[in-house]
Amino acid sequence: MALTYTDSPIDRAEHLRGKDADMRRLADSTAAQFLPVWKETHPVDANMRPHVFGPEILTKLDGGAPTVIFLGLAKETPWFALALAPSETPPDLGGTFAGLREFATILPGHEASLLVYARAMAIWHQNHPHCSRCGARTRPTESGHSRTCTDEACAHRTFPRSDPAVIMLITKGEQCLLGRKAEWRPGQFSTIAGFVEPGEDLENAVRREVAEETGVKVGAVRYLASQPWPFPSSLMLGFRGEALTTEITRDTHELEDCRWFSRAEVRAAESGAGSLLLPHRSSISRWLIEGWRDES
Ligand SMILES: [Zn+2]
Repeated sequence: MALTYTDSPIDRAEHLRGKDADMRRLADSTAAQFLPVWKETHPVDANMRPHVFGPEILTKLDGGAPTVIFLGLAKETPWFALALAPSETPPDLGGTFAGLREFATILPGHEASLLVYARAMAIWHQNHPHCSRCGARTRPTESGHSRTCTDEACAHRTFPRSDPAVIMLITKGEQCLLGRKAEWRPGQFSTIAGFVEPGEDLENAVRREVAEETGVKVGAVRYLASQPWPFPSSLMLGFRGEALTTEITRDTHELEDCRWFSRAEVRAAESGAGSLLLPHRSSISRWLIEGWRDES
């Protein structure tokens, strides 16, 4: 199973950022493609296919100028994200707006990757209108890859960030450790996950999160893959870990339930035979579980 959001077709062409003449030329070219993001949603048609626009969209929008973000080049095609003004109602672009997780798995991998990149950048702009040092307004700079304080004495520049989060499948022989949160649909379990804290390495973050949430001690830890997860700004770092203990002492604030599941139970879940429901197909959690399920 391919990991959703990791099939980017884009050359990010960092050398072009901030070069105004190049940006104007690329944005005005008939090949240019624009991906609008309104609040946390994308324009889609009746079949949940995302709408992609040419440069004419820049003249269509009313209700405030969008932030134009240069994403990069896919072969000869320049791609841009447009962070639309967060108006009360969505702009009329034909069709409706939908959240990416509602339709990501029906898209070809490269489209899902483009949209997740556009979404990550647009949401960062929306959430950083003010300078973190002095509180003055910020403005987009470097073709949308930074924001700079408008107070000239301050001029603090800030960059888009991703928050590292570890997500791990903990196993003990033929069993794996899965937990569930109270707000999930009944029967759904997933891998343990949590944010990396300042001053902490990834391996110890894995061991700490598992110990805090489940009481299980983890020994060897192995990194497998990562996935951008800008909901709103995470980077998921996927691990496998070997449990040294099996007794579960659940953090009742974090998890409503936590259990060991056998490989046979996970296989039954996949066929719909058991009561266990696996996490969403677009998630690295599902990818980690399926990778283990398909071994041996
Ligand atoms: Zn400032």
